[in-house]
Amino acid sequence: MLGRAKPSSAEDRLEDRLEDRDIETKPYTGRFAPSPTGPLHAGSVVAALASWLDARAAGGRWLVRLEDVDAPRCSAAAAQTILRQLADLGLIADEPPVWQSTRSALYQAAADQLLRSGDAYPCGCTRASISRTLAERGIAHQREAEQVYPGTCRQGLNGKPARALRLRACDAEVGDINIEWDDLRLGAQFQNVTQAVGDFVIHRADGLWAYQLAVVVDDAAQGVTRVVRGEDLADNTPRQILLQQRLGLPRPVYLHTPLVLGEDGHKLSKQNGARAAPTASNTEAVATLAQAGAVLGLRVAATTHTEWLAEAVRQWPTIFRFIVGSQDKKD
Ligand code: GLU
Repeated sequence: MLGRAKPSSAEDRLEDRLEDRDIETKPYTGRFAPSPTGPLHAGSVVAALASWLDARAAGGRWLVRLEDVDAPRCSAAAAQTILRQLADLGLIADEPPVWQSTRSALYQAAADQLLRSGDAYPCGCTRASISRTLAERGIAHQREAEQVYPGTCRQGLNGKPARALRLRACDAEVGDINIEWDDLRLGAQFQNVTQAVGDFVIHRADGLWAYQLAVVVDDAAQGVTRVVRGEDLADNTPRQILLQQRLGLPRPVYLHTPLVLGEDGHKLSKQNGARAAPTASNTEAVATLAQAGAVLGLRVAATTHTEWLAEAVRQWPTIFRFIVGSQDKKD
């Protein structure tokens, strides 16, 4: 759950600006980070195109990272399909793709750092025991809502075997942790991470690294300064900023792009009929780019994907100013 930010103190705002300036002085690096659970569809092409355009228009670097940490949900075939679709569309990365499944040592080092500093702790709870504790406290579990961890193992495992690692999302001195950030499209954002998510998992009970930790470690390791991705991920951002703070990593600038909705009005996904974005021929590639471009406000007439992309890069600064300006008008 996210909210528009309440006014912050002048000191906080200055600190945010200094942090942003610090990252903005580094060379622009953007990335597209798909989870290879299926081929790219109309929605994921919007995020890929927007991040590619933003990097190209800024004269920056653009990287592709395959986020295959959730191995049971990912497949090598889907990853190859995604890479082929990107190549067909002309969205070519500046470096060979990086695979999260090969980077466990980096995630382990970050988890060790958080354990040493006391920011993370082992948790021995199961889903069922968490539900029981919450029910005992009279907290009903709403379907589809994330359970806010009741903090059972915060002071120790109490004889239970360790299953997962959690990040402590409250502060011994100030209490609740409030994260504010400026999204280039959504404007000023705010989340009370303690109340909205609680202590969250960074290493899962099934032995897999959690998305939140892997994405933060990799964005920093790859020098990512600008994260352009779908709006469905916006409510993960406060957890990622909190992890950056705890690990002493810089905060990228965020831009969350509009979602493409399925027929049921929900975000387009395999469940509501998303088809693989067609890219096999030049005609298909141009049509797929045009469809994604329209979601971003681009109107490009071109016959090849190369011409289409060149014209889109020319239009992007105007589109970008409109995207960033429209959130000011909402204030
Ligand atoms: N791998 C995530 C996904 O495909 C995106 C991660 C990100 O862009 O931060 O939903």
